Amino acid sequence: MSHSHGPTTPFALPAMPAAPPPGTVKDLVCGMDVDPAKTKHSAVHDGKNYFFCSARCLERFRREPEKYLAGESGGGHEPM
Ligand SMILES: [Zn+2]
Repeated sequence: MSHSHGPTTPFALPAMPAAPPPGTVKDLVCGMDVDPAKTKHSAVHDGKNYFFCSARCLERFRREPEKYLAGESGGGHEPM
């Protein structure tokens, strides 16, 4: 007997873990994981390399790097 109800998945896809694949870095502007080997949008700030998914994100970072760096590693919550 055949059941044509419900999708049949030939491959059981495992639930994606939250951790990004190795070798990727975070696009601080949009939060995406970017592969430095694949993107051509990068910026050097304060001696560190930053990578972005698009020219737009790169441009935004260049304008206000502090804004995006502030949210990089939590803890530094400055009172106004
Ligand atoms: Zn981006």
